[in-house]
Order: sequence, then C-alpha cells, then structure tokens
Amino acid sequence: MSADVSRTAGVNWGPEDVEALRRAVQGPVLEPGSEGYAAECATFNLNCGLRPALVVGAGGATDVRAAVRSAVRQGLPVAVKSAAHQIVASAEGGLLITTDRMKGISVDERGRTARVEAGVRWSEVLPRTAEFGLAPIVGSAPEVGSSATRWAAARARCWAAVSAMPPTMCGG
Ligand SMILES: Cc1cc2nc3c(=O)[nH]c(=O)nc-3n(C[C@H](O)[C@H](O)[C@H](O)COP(=O)(O)OP(=O)(O)OC[C@H]3O[C@@H](n4cnc5c(N)ncnc54)[C@H](O)[C@@H]3O)c2cc1C
Repeated sequence: MSADVSRTAGVNWGPEDVEALRRAVQGPVLEPGSEGYAAECATFNLNCGLRPALVVGAGGATDVRAAVRSAVRQGLPVAVKSAAHQIVASAEGGLLITTDRMKGISVDERGRTARVEAGVRWSEVLPRTAEFGLAPIVGSAPEVGSSATRWAAARARCWAAVSAMPPTMCGG
C-alpha cells in the first residue's frame, strides 16, 4: 500500500520515506486503510479516536528512536499510545508510536526497584514484584500502562528518554 502521508499539510513525505522507516524498525509501520492499522490505533477510551497518518508499532527503544527521528526529519508531530485509557488528542496527520510490544521487566530486589519498558501494564508488573514482597503504588485499573501513569512518574527514579538527539539516560 502506498503512503498517504504526503497529503498531510506542510509535510513532504512520500512512499519511499515510509519504506525507509519500515526497513529501519522491527515493528510494523502502518498507513490508514492498511491491515492492522485500525487495531493498532484502537483505544480503550472510546471518547478518543486516533487518526494518525502513520503508526509505528515499536518493538523496542531503537524503533522509537528511528520513528522519532523520521518524524522530526519530515516535520510530523509525534504522539505515543500506551494502553489508551486516557489519550486525548487524535494524532491526526501525525506519527503515532504504540508501545504494546515493549514488554521488558526486571526487578532489583536489593534496590527495591523495577525497570519496565514503555508497553508494560501494571497487571504485568505486580506478579513480578510480588515475588520479592515488593508492591508498587498503582491505581485501581491494572490494565493501564505503568509508564503512562502520573503516580508512576512521581515514584520514578530514572527514565530513559528517547528523542531525535543521540540516546541519553536521565537519572534522578
Ligand atoms: C475517564 C477516566 C477514568 C479513569 N479511571 C481510572 C481508574 O478507575 N483507575 C485507574 O487506575 N486509573 C484511571 N484513570 C487514569 C489512567 O490510569 C491514566 O489516565 C493513565 O495515564 C492511563 O494509562 P494508559 O497506559 O492507558 O495511557 P495512554 O492513554 O496510552 O497515554 C496517556 C498519556 O501518556 C502519554 N504516554 C504514554 N506512554 C508514554 C511514553 N512511553 N512516553 C511519553 N508519553 C507517553 C500518551 O501520549 C498520553 O498523553 C482514568 C482516566 C480517565 C481519563
């Protein structure tokens, strides 16, 4: 399927740019109308529909970085979808990065910390931390993303931030 992105106002991105992005990432790169696009854009919060010009189903931080760099190069706004309980804007004409495939979890018992990738939900964190008698402060909805919630941000010691610039780790 050829890309529709070039119709986005102020953006000059053709099918070859979409193909280059496809080659650069592990996860799917989906355009409106293509198989899988609707499922990738589906939201739990039905008050919010997503209509991005392009979706990248990120397989890991490398995919996120490639997607952000491409979007910046082409002048597309970027949106991120975790479990989509809250997402508010439609991402229309932009590039949506979905994080569902990013499922890495590791627990450091001595440090009483967990390291989670951007697609991990609380329901996936809790059994892992419970093995060590650790209980993160969570809300009542176990299927929301552990990285997308405000209380997680308040308790976070460190975030790996992905931008169009070279990768950095921010500690705290
Ligand atoms: C009507 C309503 C009812 C709610 N009820 C409950 C409830 O009963 N119990 C409860 O626990 N919580 C509830 N929540 C809160 C919910 O837990 C938060 O809104 C939570 O942030 C949703 O997580 P999500 O994974 O679905 O995030 P998403 O909706 O996918 O994303 C939320 C925001 O975070 C951004 N984002 C997501 N991942 C990243 C990332 N890796 N990097 C940068 N930005 C990112 C998104 O772009 C978006 O702006 C409710 C929210 C709403 C709107």
